[in-house]
Amino acid sequence: MSLPPLVDPAESLTPQEIRRYSRHLIIPDVAMDGQKRLKNAKVLCVGAGGLGSPALMYLAAAGVGTLGIIDFDVVDESNLQRQVIHGQSDVGRLKAESARDSVKEINPLVNVVLHTERLDSSNAMEIFAPYDLIVDGTDNFATRYLVNDACVLLGKPYVWGSIYRFDGQASVFWAEHGPCYRCLYPEPPPPGMVPSCAEGGVLGVLCASIGSIQVTEAIKVLTGVGDALVGRLMIYDALEMTYRAVKVRKDPECPLCGKNPTITELIDYEQFCGTVSDEAQLAAASSTITASELKAMQDRGDEFLLVDVREPAEWEIVRIPGAVLIPKGDLPSRLSDLPQDKPVVMYCKTGIRSAETLALLKNAGFKDAMHVQGGVSAWATQVDKTAPVY
Ligand code: ZN
Repeated sequence: MSLPPLVDPAESLTPQEIRRYSRHLIIPDVAMDGQKRLKNAKVLCVGAGGLGSPALMYLAAAGVGTLGIIDFDVVDESNLQRQVIHGQSDVGRLKAESARDSVKEINPLVNVVLHTERLDSSNAMEIFAPYDLIVDGTDNFATRYLVNDACVLLGKPYVWGSIYRFDGQASVFWAEHGPCYRCLYPEPPPPGMVPSCAEGGVLGVLCASIGSIQVTEAIKVLTGVGDALVGRLMIYDALEMTYRAVKVRKDPECPLCGKNPTITELIDYEQFCGTVSDEAQLAAASSTITASELKAMQDRGDEFLLVDVREPAEWEIVRIPGAVLIPKGDLPSRLSDLPQDKPVVMYCKTGIRSAETLALLKNAGFKDAMHVQGGVSAWATQVDKTAPVY
């Protein structure tokens, strides 16, 4: 979709800016006019993680005048496999501050605005308001719906990307010209159904593939060149090495951007998406033990079967002694393998998947089933500090 430029051009470029951006200036479609628009542009990047890293680095290099970075998290060693805006010496620092330093090193002419608070319904409208366009690099559904809704309510384009293992998706949601995220995904997936990158993994370089699409689209929308990825969803498969664009239509019944909107202000997105289903929460409430309690049960010689419901690749990295592996997806067909005469204790990486399997077992009549809060990650911090964390 060909759209007019989103941003007015700055008055002029300095000689220094002309030298720096010369390779843009000699592209006829960008030229002086496009570069002046980038100079005047204000872009907010939500998250300085996997997608935020390439997005911020290329937006900075391209000469976007003002870059906002919102992230409350700190750099962890497990981030460095893909979050290339951070380095080894940044571990433990705020991601927003580490990202700012990299941006300043790439292009000192960029004005960086940091937001180190957690984005939520109470602050999103105010934080988004000064920006022309929002680039989303988050990996959870609650934040995506929050960003989408705030963008629709404020009339701003929302450049979205998503990654998982070898697959990525990207689109530009902009209710004035096409569908919003809710038109494509009216309902969040059932909690526990879609694993996050922390649960399922992601090929690090996939961030660059999808992040570069996001930056390309941001630059096109800001300067008005080319056909924006509005009303289209780009689907990338790294294993097949294919890019495929599918049409996405605006839903006239969309509760946010449709003809009769029912959502007119931000809602509670944690509740809307839920991290664990109601059923799982109910089952877990009475049947949750800590990793330390599990250790005490083992030391006492209590009779129970310890079941690891993660994937074989995770089992190879670390496991709790005495466990048997039955991946979550296999569990429904293997209920007959489980003992009826002693409790079944399940664990996963962080306690989310095991809460779902707990609900399954309770429904199947395993009244004494339990799960371990915090999973093998809690075991590594509470019981066996030599166990690797992933
Ligand atoms: Zn919509």
